[in-house]
Amino acid sequence: MNSADARALNTLLSTPKKIAIVPHKNPDGDAIGAGLALYHYLVMKGHNPVVISPNDYPEFLKWMPGTEAVMNFEKQEEEATAFLKTAAVVFTIDFNDLSRVGKMQEILQELQAPFVMIDHHQSPADYARIRYSDPTMSSTCEMIFHTVEALGGKDEITPQIADCLYAGILTDTGSFKYASTSSLTHRVAAFLIEKGARNSEIHRLIFDTNTPGRLHLLGCALNNMVILPEYSTAYITLSQDELDRHQFKKGDTEGFVNYGLTLAGIRLAVIFIENKDEGIIKISLRSEGDFSVNEFARAYFNGGGHTNAAGGKSEQSMEDTVAYFRSLLPKHQKELNK
Ligand code: 5GP
Ligand code: MN
Repeated sequence: MNSADARALNTLLSTPKKIAIVPHKNPDGDAIGAGLALYHYLVMKGHNPVVISPNDYPEFLKWMPGTEAVMNFEKQEEEATAFLKTAAVVFTIDFNDLSRVGKMQEILQELQAPFVMIDHHQSPADYARIRYSDPTMSSTCEMIFHTVEALGGKDEITPQIADCLYAGILTDTGSFKYASTSSLTHRVAAFLIEKGARNSEIHRLIFDTNTPGRLHLLGCALNNMVILPEYSTAYITLSQDELDRHQFKKGDTEGFVNYGLTLAGIRLAVIFIENKDEGIIKISLRSEGDFSVNEFARAYFNGGGHTNAAGGKSEQSMEDTVAYFRSLLPKHQKELNK
């Protein structure tokens, strides 16, 4: 965070305030970790913050300290709306555009309170008074650390804050594997461990708490995988029926898309997941190297994200969505096979 933004933020937080902290819809470990870390920090500084999530998030994140205080907009719409309308500051966390909060968008757009964006996605929108946007960062959690540091609070980081930040860095870097992991990321992680983050336990709580249903669903997903070597591409489909047969719960498909990239020679991996409730096919895309799934998702699937990890959606049937996706590949064959 640059010094002008740090000064502006310091001024904004100089007296106790009611503060809304909003992660993106379908929040992941980074969004919830960053939101809760900021929540704990602001409580410590005498503010009255509330994390308002657009919808629910997976069980494997619900061990995080403060999780019981998160408001779910889908379930507590009235209460959440009332809080938002009277908040003096709104932090938006881990997203670059208000369209990423689903139904909360209409309410956020009407608010007069100043917004603070902390985010690492490309192409940030222009709604925030303070916009701390840095696509080179591993995670929004790493950026919350730098924010706290810029505010002079680094040494006050508690074990709770450290746990939340460590969890988001861990998940958004694919356990320190992705190219966005820098030496600074490791330094921040090391500092968080020194401040009490339970690194090994956090890894277990997130990755080693599978249910049998989830593992069987993974088996089904891997069985459905279609490999297209001529386009260096692999994709997976999961229908609503297949999800139902495996007692699908939110978060169960997290990480499935990555299996495609573990195949030698595969540079684009995609998963299409049917959501009958929302009437959409949710799409996750991952790439290796410089093929930008962010641009691909933006151009064809009403989505976006990062160069190597993005998402989008389709309102067509699974069959039509997959046919459309396959029809796009010849156009990109050269880039994919580079
Ligand atoms: P995931 O595939 O894990 O849901 O998301 C991968 C990345 O793409 C994340 O950074 C996420 O914020 C972004 N993303 C996922 N879905 C969407 C979407 O529908 N629209 C946009 N703009 N970004 C998305
Ligand atoms: Mn993130």
